[in-house]
Amino acid sequence: DGNIFIDMTGGLGVNNIGHHHPKVVEAVKRQADILMHALDVVHPTRTALAMKMAEIMPGRLKNNCFTAFATSGSGAVELAVKFAKQIKRKPEILVFQGAYHGVYGHSNAMTASYHYREGYGPFVPGVTFFPYGYCYRCFIGAEYPKCGVACAHYFDYVVNGPYTGVYEPAICVGEPIQGEGGYIDPPPEFWPIIKKACEKAGILFASDEIQAGFGRTGKLWAIEHWGVEPDMIIWGKGVGGDQPVTGVTLGREHYDKLITGSVPATFPGNGLAMVTALTNIEILTDPEADLMGRATRIGEYIKGMLKDAQKDSKVIGDVRGKGFMLSVEVVKDRETKEPPEQGKCAGVMVKMIQRGVLNFVCGRNGNVFRFMPPLTITKEYFEKAIRIFLETLKEEEDNLTR
Ligand code: PMP
Repeated sequence: DGNIFIDMTGGLGVNNIGHHHPKVVEAVKRQADILMHALDVVHPTRTALAMKMAEIMPGRLKNNCFTAFATSGSGAVELAVKFAKQIKRKPEILVFQGAYHGVYGHSNAMTASYHYREGYGPFVPGVTFFPYGYCYRCFIGAEYPKCGVACAHYFDYVVNGPYTGVYEPAICVGEPIQGEGGYIDPPPEFWPIIKKACEKAGILFASDEIQAGFGRTGKLWAIEHWGVEPDMIIWGKGVGGDQPVTGVTLGREHYDKLITGSVPATFPGNGLAMVTALTNIEILTDPEADLMGRATRIGEYIKGMLKDAQKDSKVIGDVRGKGFMLSVEVVKDRETKEPPEQGKCAGVMVKMIQRGVLNFVCGRNGNVFRFMPPLTITKEYFEKAIRIFLETLKEEEDNLTR
């Protein structure tokens, strides 16, 4: 209808290289003439994608892994934990408070929010939630770094100590930067301590990179910011972009422990999905376009703008994130950190949409504004969206603090 919107949602963290990139459209058209539906059987485009995933894995996984494909993030999480159970022959799963991993059987049990659980229990048993490295709302009210990263050490204590109630864990699944839980990036020590605890206990560690991965934070995989090498990467959203393709990639050494054909699905090998992911990877990793470098540089600049605005704002409690995974946690009172009344932040979100900025709040109290535009956005558009956000927030300050 002639309206123009600046997109701060990127298809909910999916369109990292934008919507219908011309190279993707061309590749899809080419593939449509060759092969579309292909169950999950081997064909050249699927093999090419599996090999490409191996090439772009971090750490020990690089070229020493295998990939199982799925058609949603929830589905990929499902595969990861089922594989872990079969590999370890143990039933328990460890996750974090505030986590969002999906809405299927296992993945729903691993998702913390009541909103996604109400009326759906009982859930898959054996799931334990641990405190996340959420410094702004520390679980024991401590302050980083004086806290000594107690949250991560508590995980170690439970997982490796006697009489704690956790006995047979197969896997720990964590979002390197929590997405739906509030765009929270834990302190530098958090993931290294968790990974070490997992190694000590013989547990697999999977990084759920569905929202934080694929270049969004300025590195291809978000866990790389913490220098931690996961045993599995669960990926989705941005890798497929305009087509539904997700998956889990894990160490080759585990392959023989899995029972062949025990997780069949009808659609994962779809030709159009495979070729779209391949093309997305080519565009994202093109050194000339340098999309991840831009995300780091522009992201830092935007974060600086938000931090400046925080200085004389009554309601900006916290500014956080990396690259193009940035957020602002809004509060009623900066001293008490009490969240604004339910629904008020959603009201600000709607006002921003009316002013041409697509955005979507998240967080445990629905009070976190997140900025996750496509990595192709210009600095000018990003800056304009932030200015509109800050203006709207200023206008709503009295309402939010009431
Ligand atoms: N894990 C994370 C970290 C996510 O952000 C999401 C989706 N928001 C999922 C899993 C589930 O993905 P999907 O919606 O594709 O099932």
